[in-house]
Amino acid sequence: MYFTRNSDETFLFASAVGQHLLPGDTVLLYGDLGAGKSVFARGCARALGVRDEMASPTFTLMQPYKGKDNINVYHFDLYRIQDEDEFFASGLQDHIGTDGVSLIEWPQQADVCPERRIEIDILRAEDFDGRDIDINIFGMDDRKDKILMSLCRWESI
Ligand code: ADP
Ligand code: MG
Repeated sequence: MYFTRNSDETFLFASAVGQHLLPGDTVLLYGDLGAGKSVFARGCARALGVRDEMASPTFTLMQPYKGKDNINVYHFDLYRIQDEDEFFASGLQDHIGTDGVSLIEWPQQADVCPERRIEIDILRAEDFDGRDIDINIFGMDDRKDKILMSLCRWESI
């Protein structure tokens, strides 16, 4: 379990994760409205070299960006979809786990769960700006230790 004291720290925490990401990786972002999922997505994207302002993709389901070395970064927000079928009809799932890094808010709305993924759970702590962050890494055995090592400054008991 990890703890960040404010949104800047969550951004840095996310950048630390993002620097290890490769095309085909997916970050699943769980947490209530206002937890900090978009802040997290921006931190990951920045570490991948995305320079654009990242607005909320709420009305588009997915917004594509380009990072360093022309890497594709896909920012999904599935909050507004009605059901899985609507998402699969969109064809957007073809980008997940394939040609770019996918950062997905509200993945539970469409049961998205690729094999190679990082699950991030953000929980409001008692302290107003504090957030408890849980991370679980799947299918990245070669990078897992390195990723966790770069997060140790935010480790909590
Ligand atoms: P979500 O995408 O989960 O709905 P956002 O990332 O859009 O949430 O918004 C999170 C809000 O909470 C922002 O206004 C941000 O400044 C604020 N905030 C306060 N403390 C934190 C923190 N520790 N981590 C992330 N965001 C925080
Ligand atoms: Mg959001």
